[in-house]
Amino acid sequence: MTSQIPALTISCEFFPPRTEKGVLKLRQTREQLQALQPAYFSVTFGAGGSTQEKTFETVVEIQEQSDFDAAPHLSCIGSSGENVLKLLQNYQAHGIRRIVALRGDKPSGWAGPLGDFRYANELVEFIRTETGSHFHIEVAAYPEFHPEARSAKADLDFFKQKVDAGANSAITQYFYNAEAYFRLLDSCAERGIDIPIVPGIMPIGNYEQLVRFSDTCGAEVPRWLRRRLADFAEDKEGLQAFGINVVTKLCERLLEGGAPGLHFYTLNQAGPTLEITKRLGLFSLS
Ligand code: FAD
Repeated sequence: MTSQIPALTISCEFFPPRTEKGVLKLRQTREQLQALQPAYFSVTFGAGGSTQEKTFETVVEIQEQSDFDAAPHLSCIGSSGENVLKLLQNYQAHGIRRIVALRGDKPSGWAGPLGDFRYANELVEFIRTETGSHFHIEVAAYPEFHPEARSAKADLDFFKQKVDAGANSAITQYFYNAEAYFRLLDSCAERGIDIPIVPGIMPIGNYEQLVRFSDTCGAEVPRWLRRRLADFAEDKEGLQAFGINVVTKLCERLLEGGAPGLHFYTLNQAGPTLEITKRLGLFSLS
């Protein structure tokens, strides 16, 4: 790694593939992304635990077949303490030391039990009570606020509860407005929160998908960006090149402003993340 900025934490997020073809593709993606020397690869957990087994298999494969740490996402809504504890013990038995602890969302039409956890701070507390300091716990942060947040202030206060419960660091929801991230850092500093808050970076590869995702998770795609991206409707390559440009500039601003690292939402693709990090000078492709 040839970063001019010391001790940057680079991490990459995957979703667990459902098919054999997807498994092979992810293996290839992971091998390519190893060039970044990431601190860890994380693997998402489907709403309501719908991917629990696939997440587990993907995490164990990364942990056992690569030189890099794997970090499972674990969402607690709808889960029992017993189920979460079993999962934690299984992860411990496979040498996993990092977890992304989340509340998660109920799948639409969910009629299952509410479970033993209401919010992510309860999960963090549970992990600490049951496993002490074994896991490095990441939690989610929202520069543009969580879509269900009662108010901006309440969201920040609840974020602090997760930190007080024992979170070691945070990854943000993605955003395209650097100012929102810097404001989040200021608000956290005012509250005495001093854990690293790593910006989540979503490369832009598909306009419709980005708009759909963003509307659901409460991330804003600024008007200027939506309008520019919409112009590339018939030009996928043009859109990707423009997207890489925009996201590289965003990352530059974030790193210059003191971001402690970058967490890439890769969507199981290596290309955009490699191109962005190459332009940032975080590693050189040989
Ligand atoms: P919380 O921190 O519990 O917050 C949820 C909401 O409740 C917020 O509005 C908050 O203000 C409010 N709140 C918090 N505590 C309290 C309280 N004590 N009383 C009242 N209100 C409170 N989802 C998945 O299903 N699988 C994944 O793998 C996944 N990975 C993610 C990774 C990252 C980096 C991020 C940013 C999000 C991820 N998500 C994932 C989405 C996440 O699960 C949703 O955004 C979910 O709605 C909130 O999860 P949370 O952990 O932030 O919840």
